[in-house]
Amino acid sequence: MSKDNIKRLLDWLDASPSCFQAVDTISRELENAGFVRLNEEESWQLTPGGKYYTTKNSSAIAAFICGTASPAEAGFRIITSHSDSPCFKIKPNAEIIGDGGVVSLNVEKYGGGILYTWFDRPLSVAGRVMLRTADPFAPEERLVDVKRPVATIPHIAFHFNRAVNEGNPLSVQKDMKPVVGYFSDAELEEMKRHGGFVKSLIADELCVDHSDILDYELCLYPCEKAGIVGAAGEYFQSGRIDDLSMAFASLEALLGMKDAVTECTRIMGVFDNEETGSGTKQGAHSPWFRSVMERIGAPGEELHRAVARSFMISADDAHAWHPNYNEKYDPTNHPVIGGGPVIKINANCKYMTDAQSAAVFRRLCEEAGVKCQSFVNHSDVAGGSTLGNILTGQLPLRGVDMGCAIWAMHSARETAGVSDHLDTVKVFSRFYGA
Ligand code: ZN
Repeated sequence: MSKDNIKRLLDWLDASPSCFQAVDTISRELENAGFVRLNEEESWQLTPGGKYYTTKNSSAIAAFICGTASPAEAGFRIITSHSDSPCFKIKPNAEIIGDGGVVSLNVEKYGGGILYTWFDRPLSVAGRVMLRTADPFAPEERLVDVKRPVATIPHIAFHFNRAVNEGNPLSVQKDMKPVVGYFSDAELEEMKRHGGFVKSLIADELCVDHSDILDYELCLYPCEKAGIVGAAGEYFQSGRIDDLSMAFASLEALLGMKDAVTECTRIMGVFDNEETGSGTKQGAHSPWFRSVMERIGAPGEELHRAVARSFMISADDAHAWHPNYNEKYDPTNHPVIGGGPVIKINANCKYMTDAQSAAVFRRLCEEAGVKCQSFVNHSDVAGGSTLGNILTGQLPLRGVDMGCAIWAMHSARETAGVSDHLDTVKVFSRFYGA
């Protein structure tokens, strides 16, 4: 375990500006390690010790190494996380033309981001595009990542809002529209003939005709690369640390298993739409993950025996104690960056953690030689939730909610700890059987 893991994490974060690229990045790493892709519409022929993965909607992924025993006999070891992060999605017919030929884009907020962290940054565009084919039921899907900064959301000048630092309510519709440039009348005419700015940008990127673009799911993302911060390089910063850092920690642990054979079947699941309640076919509320487990070899009654023998780590980042806001934190359970993985606990069951599952995780940390912290909300603060309990609506799994302690959750650029990530990979590796 070394700084190489952090370099790889930063590269993965940069390569994953949307949930679609995140799943693509994970898929490519799995294929390089010999995992075989399984298609949902085909019959699955699995062998003990075999390594496989399958995707849903190109934005959720499940990868697994079959155990030598059946899941009903040896259970599943599961680590889950999510591929989505708060962002702005570009609406259809997005172009709004203003004075001097200034073009801005009509966008919609996805999830609960910290809006003002998105101002005055170089922004690019990524996501997926659907192209025309002969079969209307099977449009061709292509991923796109423009990579270069093509937009910015300029803040209003201080002089027009001198109270800006005393609280500044923002309207997504009015304040958050990104500007992409200014164009002459002739250029605007040309742009219109090519389906508008967004379609012509994407058509150029993909070398296709704009008229073949049937639809798209595109988001804005900050172009700044992920990087190391701190006097001794103890922090790393990036967009989408919540929750891609956990997805990549589980990937690192699964890839690290190489050809280590265990009786139990090891799975990592990365779901989409956690930030909007998980209620889609590719979200944790869907029966998709349960169907993957059934198809791995636990049909019917065997699934219930398998579930009883299984354990899940629901991995989603936690709030690190912030030196400027001590009053927001529980007096005795506030995890710090650098203090190791965090068990998340809630008396009202927003997290799936209970004494038994926390005990299991604490022992795994001991065996992995890493410190472990606890997070409990300040009793007057509502706090958040995550996908662990949503998934238990489909499968009554025992398990623990945990994550790394990060600052500025849902900012366009979050901050986390280098050692915490390395420690999390160690404990995930121990969990998967190393
Ligand atoms: Zn999260």
